[in-house]
Amino acid sequence: MTGSPGWHHRDAVELAGEHGVDPTRGLGASDVAHRIARHGANELTGKEASSWLALLADQFKDFMVLVLIAAAVVSGAIGELVDTLAIVVIVVLNAVIGFVQAWRADKAIAALQQLAAAHATVLRDGEVRQIPAAGLVPGDIVLLEAGNQVPADLRLIDLAQFRVDESALTGESVTVEKHTAPMTGVVHALGDRLNMAFKGTTATHGRARGLVVAIGMSTELGKVARLLDRDTDRSTPLQRRLAAFGKRLSLVVIAICVVIFTVGVLRGESPLLMALTAISLAVAAIPEALPAVVTVLLALGARKMVSFNALIRRLPSVETLGSVSFICSDKTGTLTQNRMHAEVLLADGESWQPGEPSPKPVHQELLRAAALCNDATHTLKGGWAGDPTETALTQVAGDAGLHKPTLEQDAQRILEFPFDAERKRMTTFHRTPDGLVAYTKGAPEAVLAQCTSQWQPGGESRLRRAEVLGAAEKLATQGLRVLALARRSYEQLPGTGELEAVESGLCLIGLIGLIDPPRPEAAAAVRDCISAGITPVMITGDHPATARAIAQRLGILSGAESDVLTGVDLAALNDAALRERVRTVRVYARVDPLQKIRIVEALQAHGEFVAMTGDGVNDAPALKQADIGVAMGRGGTDVAREASSLVLLDDNFATIVAAVREGRRIYDNIRKFVRYAMTGNSGEIWTIFLAPLMGLPIPLLPIHILWINLVTDGLPGLALAAEPAERGVMQRPPRPPSESLFSHGMWQHILAIGLLLGGLCLAVQAWALSTGHSHGQTMVFTVLTLGQMAHVMAIRSEFDSLWRQGLLSNKPLLGAVLATFALQMAVIYVPVFNTVFKTAPLSAMELGICLAAAMVVFIAVEAEKTWRRSRAATLNQVAS
Ligand code: ATP
Repeated sequence: MTGSPGWHHRDAVELAGEHGVDPTRGLGASDVAHRIARHGANELTGKEASSWLALLADQFKDFMVLVLIAAAVVSGAIGELVDTLAIVVIVVLNAVIGFVQAWRADKAIAALQQLAAAHATVLRDGEVRQIPAAGLVPGDIVLLEAGNQVPADLRLIDLAQFRVDESALTGESVTVEKHTAPMTGVVHALGDRLNMAFKGTTATHGRARGLVVAIGMSTELGKVARLLDRDTDRSTPLQRRLAAFGKRLSLVVIAICVVIFTVGVLRGESPLLMALTAISLAVAAIPEALPAVVTVLLALGARKMVSFNALIRRLPSVETLGSVSFICSDKTGTLTQNRMHAEVLLADGESWQPGEPSPKPVHQELLRAAALCNDATHTLKGGWAGDPTETALTQVAGDAGLHKPTLEQDAQRILEFPFDAERKRMTTFHRTPDGLVAYTKGAPEAVLAQCTSQWQPGGESRLRRAEVLGAAEKLATQGLRVLALARRSYEQLPGTGELEAVESGLCLIGLIGLIDPPRPEAAAAVRDCISAGITPVMITGDHPATARAIAQRLGILSGAESDVLTGVDLAALNDAALRERVRTVRVYARVDPLQKIRIVEALQAHGEFVAMTGDGVNDAPALKQADIGVAMGRGGTDVAREASSLVLLDDNFATIVAAVREGRRIYDNIRKFVRYAMTGNSGEIWTIFLAPLMGLPIPLLPIHILWINLVTDGLPGLALAAEPAERGVMQRPPRPPSESLFSHGMWQHILAIGLLLGGLCLAVQAWALSTGHSHGQTMVFTVLTLGQMAHVMAIRSEFDSLWRQGLLSNKPLLGAVLATFALQMAVIYVPVFNTVFKTAPLSAMELGICLAAAMVVFIAVEAEKTWRRSRAATLNQVAS
């Protein structure tokens, strides 16, 4: 059946019958299992993930590594085979470490993608469920609403005002209005099949129910999937900058290596040994692995973020999160709990509170309207599912004896104009024993503007509009979310295109005030933002008074400030005027989602780095424009998620702040890794470069250089990823996005501490030579390794001393340092390694000298940090 392309010609219910499904109940569990076995997963089988072999081969692609292997082989052929073998083994080990890192990063990224995969709402066994879209089978009944991505090819069964954006498939940017009737005629292009919804397109308005007729590669999208190039460049801006920097640095390193080679040969060293030394140094010092290590750090960071409900959809966002200087957040559900309940009903001048005995007839009509003009659905467990505003309304009506399913038996819904955030209201039509009635519910101004009278039992009276608006304002000032409800009787059902006419001439029933308390953790998160130099801003569709009350409770608005801008005011401002206002406005109320993009642009014009939350279809452009688009994982639409770089799995504002903190930590750790690796390289270069200039013999053999590169960079370097956040990470201002990775004295540190390390090596070598100790080379080798261990412990923080941080606060790093120390001791003291590494057991005094030299490095870096701290304190004093 699923092979037939003529679905649009067929009657939907008949087609459902052929698929063996009752459209009102959906498939049963056993049916689904059979069909999954038969049809497979609803997935587009894209490009295979890179195989482990290809990943391993990648590690050998580096030109310098190949040259090194070639040189080692040549030297082996004419000299010592042990040397060659040792070099090849180290190079292979290096590749294996690189491979394991790349593999881990790939796995972490794949796991994130899995988490970010789309979900679908299906009807199965008579119950509405959310399942991963990959689990859909032909015959499933799928429910769609505005904002959903269509998860499979569907033949539509019923719908209300359903429009679809099919540009992903047809390139046509105008949304298409759908219907359910079978189509006649012969040739129908995809865009003309108006009773079908295709996988990959998105619902922009209304809602619909459809029968899955094709999944995975059998869908229309599947047919074109192989034409799509989905292999986008995954590298992050930082990686690209590092790669470009690495290229420039390579040239410098190669030039230095050429000098070293030439000087060595001129001094009478063996050209082959000098070639190996120069190439080993080039391999060790060229930072070709930096971009790869950055991926590992970012991917590990992203994986950690999932544990606190922040799902990263684009890896570069991890590194840029730390730059966020404005967080523009929705109110409902993000800053508030979205656990609403009705607090008060106001109708015809009288109020009624839930729990009080017997509501008056006008309040009963208000509750009836609230329950009927409502899309909440009854769950099998007896509760309500759907939009929290609506579930709260069904709840209060039910508690007062007006049970939605019972009401619907007598007042069946026959037409609807669904809610949208621009109209801020919705209307449903019901066939009742007294004729046709339309109920409208929405924001008070949006409904009252369309009302001409006040409803009363048995008649209508004059509408005291100003009074009602005043009452709504008063409720809003208390932080309540206020909805107005109205009705209108009809003789005849209007056409679906008559929205304007339908939502006019209404008869107001009354107002309902709902309470939606702020999230308990939000106030602390707002404080964190402010101390971290990040400005929290509320952008809401809700009433200005409600918004202000909540913003004050959360600390977004301090008592004195009262700058709240409404959507209407905003529309009246031109871009220049808005740019002026965005500096001070902290709350935007009654804003249309499409206005959010103007706010983002105005902030960006000031150089701000903006994170913006959103959940609806119309939020997508602003989410794309924002530097960090943040979508809601629970309440949000697929469209918003697609447009975002961060998804909040718990819809919680505090999670954004936690993610920013984590982003800052990860960026700091990347800096620490670069500082560590480059200082080590700089130490090696200084040592080998300066030795001949000071009349000393070659201080290190190629195998030593490679070993240092392998062991020191590999283990402790990566353990820096586990470094906890710096103290005060959220007390410093955001990092300017364009700031160089090497800023704040990093360059100077790399050169100076590298020079110190090199100087210490040469001093030790000179001492050994002058005092007749024959272990000079082993000592230099040991000073370099231990010096780097001391260095890595000292640079764990950019400011704090190691004592303040605590030796045990990064156990993986401590373990790596101890392991490296043990390996180095083995290389010196285990006889077989003496042959391989051409080392000699050091005497206690010699080892003591090496340890003392390493200690000097440690003390120097600690002294640098002390200087930094005192300078920061002075600057703070001056500033205050
Ligand atoms: P935020 O933008 O912070 O999420 P919000 O949920 O209030 O806040 P919208 O969803 O744009 O924003 O809603 C705007 C207004 O429309 C609400 O303040 C409310 O008055 C009204 N409204 C919201 N949901 C419904 C609904 N289901 N039916 C009718 N009116 C609604």
